[in-house]
Amino acid sequence: CGIVGILGSHEVAPTLVESLRRLEYRGYDSAGIATVNSGKLERRRAVGKLVNLSDLLVHEPLPGKAGIGHTRWATHGAPSTTNAHPHRAGPVAVVHNGIIENYRELREELATHGITPQTETDTETVALMTQHLMDQGASATDAAMACIDKLEGAFALVFLFDGEEDLLVAARKGSPLAIGHGDGEMFVGSDAIALAPMTDQITYLEEGDRAVINRQGATITNAKGQRVNRDQQTIQMDA
Ligand code: GLU
Repeated sequence: CGIVGILGSHEVAPTLVESLRRLEYRGYDSAGIATVNSGKLERRRAVGKLVNLSDLLVHEPLPGKAGIGHTRWATHGAPSTTNAHPHRAGPVAVVHNGIIENYRELREELATHGITPQTETDTETVALMTQHLMDQGASATDAAMACIDKLEGAFALVFLFDGEEDLLVAARKGSPLAIGHGDGEMFVGSDAIALAPMTDQITYLEEGDRAVINRQGATITNAKGQRVNRDQQTIQMDA
């Protein structure tokens, strides 16, 4: 339902939660964040209000300067901690808005490789498929792109990877996604409102776009894999 991603210059967990708070108006049943710290990917998730997640983070802090966050409005699988995002499979964590229509077919394909889902969600399939493609030798970015190519439905996705503290991969199809440009920092969100405290420099992804983001900027390709330029705009809003 709500997505945020940050490649920051300082600890991102508090900022991720603050950004998710700005998306609360959209409604949600659970929330979670993941970060990479000293190369290590970790996540925290909680059912119910964001305060449950922030309470959890007091007891089990999540250090790191790169991270993703999500507020979930369940479509596939009951609201629960297990079904909350970010979903993880090995080195891959992903947050997702929307619905992966062909997740059953993808599960069948994964099953032929002996891979079984641990959750009831459509989203976990994206993490599992990306992990599977990495296991077959693809780089994190190539695996995410190849996975996105396989997806049908409406989605906004942001990927974070174990061992990668300067990389987010994002994709937009039928569900909005905006990239925010900071000073040596980069952001991504399902709504520019989520990014307003950090930056007013926004690039909206267009339908079918994917972005490979690091702290230097974002490389955007269209659904055909061609490099494209999308305008960077200064947006007006009350932060
Ligand atoms: N279909 C996904 C799920 O049920 C994402 C829902 C959302 O947009 O929050 O977990």
